Order: sequence, then C-alpha cells, then structure tokens
Amino acid sequence: MANYIKNMWDGVYTVLVGMKITWKHMFMKKVTVQYPDEMYPIPKNARNRLQLYADQCNGCNSCARICPVNCISIETLRVTPNDPENPKVLEDPENDHWLPRKLWVTKYDIDMAKCCYCSLCTTVCPSAAIQHTTDFEYSSYFKEDLLYHFTAMTPETVVSKKQMLEEHQAKEKAAKAAAAAKAAEEQAKAAATASAN
Ligand code: SF4
Ligand code: SF4
Repeated sequence: MANYIKNMWDGVYTVLVGMKITWKHMFMKKVTVQYPDEMYPIPKNARNRLQLYADQCNGCNSCARICPVNCISIETLRVTPNDPENPKVLEDPENDHWLPRKLWVTKYDIDMAKCCYCSLCTTVCPSAAIQHTTDFEYSSYFKEDLLYHFTAMTPETVVSKKQMLEEHQAKEKAAKAAAAAKAAEEQAKAAATASAN
C-alpha cells in the first residue's frame, strides 16, 4: 500500500515539476506575435531583398565581380560624348554630388533565388547604388519571379543610344582616316620636293 501511495506521489510530483516552466511562462510577458497580422520591427541594417538605385549606379561592375554566386548580371554601353541628354550619375548621395555619366547601365539583373545575402556587393559599391532593404516577404512558387530587372532604360532607348554611339564612332573613324590620308599626302609631297632638290 505504502509503495502504491509513493508511486502516486511520484507521478503527481513529476507532473508538477514538468508544469513548473509552463506555469512560469503563463505569467511572463508574451514574446510571440500573430504573424502576418503583427510583426516585430525589422532592424534597419537587415540584409533582406536588394534594391538598385539606378541614378547612383555608374556601371563599374564591382558588385558583379565580387558576388560569390554570380547572381548579378550587368551590361553597359559607353555614353556618346556629345549626347544631348548630358547624363549624370549621383556619385555621393549624402552630399548630392553628381558627375558626368560615362556608361549607360543597359542591364542590371539580380537573381534573388541565388543570393546568399552576404552583402559583399553593397560593401564594394562606391556610391551606395545597391543596398539591402528590410523587405523579406517576397517568396514565390516560381523562381523566375525572383529574377529582378532593375534597369530603368527601355529597350527602345537602349537601341537609340547604341545607334548614337555607332554613328559617333563611325565619324571618329572617318576623321582619323582622313587625318592619316592627309598626313600621308603631305609626307609624299615633302619627299617629292626633297628628291627634286
Ligand atoms: S548579397 Fe552577396 S550573394 Fe547577394 S547579390 Fe550581393 S554579393 Fe551576391
Ligand atoms: S551597383 Fe555599385 S558596384 Fe554595382 S555596378 Fe553599380 S556602381 Fe558599380
């Protein structure tokens, strides 16, 4: 009988010990929130989805070169020297310092499905053009949805800028050829004069 009562007490005691933590937490401040209706504030320096600020990107390619998983893909085009648009790039956002743009960024894609959030791209960017945002709610059933196209230029603008550059390069080439022909002609004249004397 005594053994039976001892076993009963051991059972009750074990339950009480097991429930100790549960009871304690019943009177503590709640730390869980009902996501997605509620959520904790995201720290400003969180490494979530990347965002390109196209005005600040000079097309230097440093971010793509340092990315360990090759998820950044960039294409650029030289800005034609006499481009009437006279484009500028925001080199120092804090001091609102703009410089003449040397390269158009015709393609800037990031495949967020591959990104490992290492933040190396944001570290090497000279003008803070690529930055993490606090947005983390962008999961998708389709990985194509995670390929972000950040380029602001339309395909038509890219074609017209390419044409403008090609025309400029053709003119430069023609001018160089004309200058070389003129120099050769003058050299031939000088040689003829020298042999006549
Ligand atoms: S955070 Fe890292 S992995 Fe993601 S794009 Fe930048 S360099 Fe590449
Ligand atoms: S985002 Fe920054 S590092 Fe990348 S190409 Fe643009 S300026 Fe260069």
